[in-house]
Amino acid sequence: MIYLDYNATSPTDPRVVKTMTPYFYDISANPSSTHSAGYKARNAVDHARKNLADLLHSRIDEIYFTSGGTEADNIAIKGTAFAQEKRKKIITSAIEHHAVLTTCDYMQKFGYSIVEVPVDQYGIIDLEFLKTHIDENTLLVSIMHANNEVGTIEPIQEISKIAHRHGAIFHTDAVQTVGKIPVDVAAMEIDMLSLSGHKFYGPKGVGALVVRKGIRFDPLSHGGHHEGGKRAGTENVPGIVGLGKACEIAAHEMSADEKRLKKLRDRLWNGLNNKIPELKLNGHPDKRLANTLNFSVRYIEGESMLLQLDAQGICASSGSACTSGSLEASHVLLAMGVPHDMAHGSLRFSLGKFNTESEVDKVIQILPGIVEKLRVISPLYKHKE
Ligand code: PLP
Repeated sequence: MIYLDYNATSPTDPRVVKTMTPYFYDISANPSSTHSAGYKARNAVDHARKNLADLLHSRIDEIYFTSGGTEADNIAIKGTAFAQEKRKKIITSAIEHHAVLTTCDYMQKFGYSIVEVPVDQYGIIDLEFLKTHIDENTLLVSIMHANNEVGTIEPIQEISKIAHRHGAIFHTDAVQTVGKIPVDVAAMEIDMLSLSGHKFYGPKGVGALVVRKGIRFDPLSHGGHHEGGKRAGTENVPGIVGLGKACEIAAHEMSADEKRLKKLRDRLWNGLNNKIPELKLNGHPDKRLANTLNFSVRYIEGESMLLQLDAQGICASSGSACTSGSLEASHVLLAMGVPHDMAHGSLRFSLGKFNTESEVDKVIQILPGIVEKLRVISPLYKHKE
């Protein structure tokens, strides 16, 4: 199998699995328990919190562990809204992950108005639109750090400055960037940040919300005093330990990984673009995650290409994991002004540290034949002028 779907989820690094293993059995006590086994589990959670704080340049007491990116996004949006009554506007972007978009939709039930900032053809946020729509009624600006489908990286610092000028809180969904590129919550003036372990070689079902000191938010789950009373429920100790280890590895390896992945990704794109006519790259040419390649293949459907690739042992995606499987075109590509037919013909290859040159070359060898066959039977291709 050739796995090229790392933005959906990455395999867990064997070093992470090794670090987690004792916490399923040998050190399996509840970290809230007041006996030595409990203290060991508590120490392990604290150690992971420190690894995360080091990677993100945050304080240790600014980190709240969650079940993943989705929960962190939910707490950031609902939690800040429910902690105050004055401001009633939330600004987000048209290309957010559904964890943000559907949470914002839900907030309309509570009287919040939602403004979606449009993006340009590369997926970059329209800062002028943001400046004209933000006001003293704006509670929160939630804009992702990098997009999961096309990899475009947003000008986070400029966005946070605009938010702060109006007294609004700035939240970023950094699920696709933490562990891949440097993130510094202090220098980037980020108030709240969501991350997820399984996107950078950590385990699934664990993530975190980073909340800068002074930002108020209500908890969504009530119960015990876990996570400073902000997220009740016994901690997922093995998961948290794994997330901590993934942070430690990323701190040492992400910069070298990024350079290697960019070369691999560009090799893939150049190889395919030379062999297949009428491809169009989606996403920003440079301000883009080094591992992400999204393009449209004119005249055919992304889904049919995916099936054929899968039959040959190649795993890719036609958009985000949540929308693929539905036959709707990607909301991200449509927001970028990609025409419907081209949006339906999109493919996303997202690479990771376990990919090799020979895997990439195999795709360059296989995909052109698949496209040729599908185009022969495509009515759109037959009727092209
Ligand atoms: N936000 C972004 C940008 C994502 O790519 C994802 C996962 O695909 C999520 C949020 C959701 O994260 P999780 O799977 O940890 O809930």
